[in-house]
Amino acid sequence: MSNVPVAVVTGSNKGIGFAIVRALCKQFPGDVYLTARDPGRGQEAVAKLQEEGLHALFHQLDIDDLQSIRALRDFLKEKYGGLNVLVNNAGIAFKVHDTTPFAVQAEVTLKTNFFGTRNVCTELLPLVKPHGRVVNVSSMVSSSALAGCSQELQKKFRSDTITEDELVELMTKFVEDTKKSVHEKEGWPNTAYGVSKIGVTVLSRIQARMLNEKRKGDHILLNACCPGWVRTDMAGPKATKSPDEGAETPVYLALLPSDADGPHGQFLSNKTVQTW
Ligand code: NAP
Repeated sequence: MSNVPVAVVTGSNKGIGFAIVRALCKQFPGDVYLTARDPGRGQEAVAKLQEEGLHALFHQLDIDDLQSIRALRDFLKEKYGGLNVLVNNAGIAFKVHDTTPFAVQAEVTLKTNFFGTRNVCTELLPLVKPHGRVVNVSSMVSSSALAGCSQELQKKFRSDTITEDELVELMTKFVEDTKKSVHEKEGWPNTAYGVSKIGVTVLSRIQARMLNEKRKGDHILLNACCPGWVRTDMAGPKATKSPDEGAETPVYLALLPSDADGPHGQFLSNKTVQTW
């Protein structure tokens, strides 16, 4: 088993994830895994970094596929005895003008952004080694979507005692409510992406609390963040930040020094803790 530190970035064959891997290749003292659901696209991305003189390793990972997540888990356990840095970056968004019915958009978006990210965490968080760092890439849209929720929902999402089961129940209810076309009446905002990212931010707050309760002595720091508005296939060419600039906050959180005691359980933008 290797003692080399290891970092894993989900959805990193392009966009912000690719830029995070590029930065980690330069700054992280260990093995960096670029992961992708499609091995061809993943290997191509690794080769692109190679041309820049950077050495990333590849492992397949589709966060929608539990088998794929577990295969990565078993690989990390066997080869490294765990992992040191996990960046949950993979995500999807329907384009604004997409005509796919809203209920379908809700189901598909929540499946990857919330349930997929949660499944990765369920399988990989127990493997994170002492002084490990976990970064969940959310979005400022989670804050604006929160503001668009009913007072009752806002209270639940800001609660310091909400459990992961309760959060899963709420995210499932959103999808069900869209199918019955009652989501607005039930206090939800009209954004599937926004609700999925509320899920990611609240999940991060819950996971940090669980780490405090169960693994306090391990000094693991876990946070959610927004990369900013970044020029990628998701956000388009008019966005203000380059992918490398978008990677800055996630990379800052992934590389928090081993003696740091925070931030932890926070939502950050531009390396700054935001009020939730
Ligand atoms: P992007 O260019 O569309 O890249 C998304 C990445 O996620 C791709 O590598 C994609 O792989 C991967 N992915 C999607 N579904 C996956 C799955 N089921 N399993 C594994 N990988 C999957 O988007 P981006 O702008 O870089 O976004 C990265 C993250 O930042 C997302 O979580 C996004 O919500 C968040 N974010 C972006 C912005 C922005 O302005 N761009 C702002 C706020 C937050 P494929 O190539 O196979 O599709």
